[in-house]
Amino acid sequence: MKSGWKGLCPRCGQGKMFSSWLKVAKKCDACDLDYRFAAPDDGPAFFSLCIVAFPLTFVVVWLQVVFEPAWWVHLFTSVPFMLAGCLLPLRPIKGWLVASQYVNRAQEAGTSKLWDQLHGRAPDAGGNFDD
Ligand SMILES: [Zn+2]
Repeated sequence: MKSGWKGLCPRCGQGKMFSSWLKVAKKCDACDLDYRFAAPDDGPAFFSLCIVAFPLTFVVVWLQVVFEPAWWVHLFTSVPFMLAGCLLPLRPIKGWLVASQYVNRAQEAGTSKLWDQLHGRAPDAGGNFDD
């Protein structure tokens, strides 16, 4: 999972996950892991950003209440601060989402295999179960 935060391949931890700033590569250039399984839409990323932006808003309000700066002070302090707080976590959050999808997918594949074994449905048994 840590490799996701760094934008590295969740399988080998060496290849780069991103082909550009926020564009996920088609496959790992180190181990050929296909990244097409990972299609993190902007919903979760936006949700994660809100979690980051929310405390920042409190900091800005706190600055306003404690120091009572002129409105233009926010242009040079709060606004860049908010933008940085929103933009900087985007890539690690997206990387983490891709890595978590890879891990979840691996776990689902693992449990379905175990599920088949529990029900005597080995892939080569050719059972007569209704699916
Ligand atoms: Zn890889």
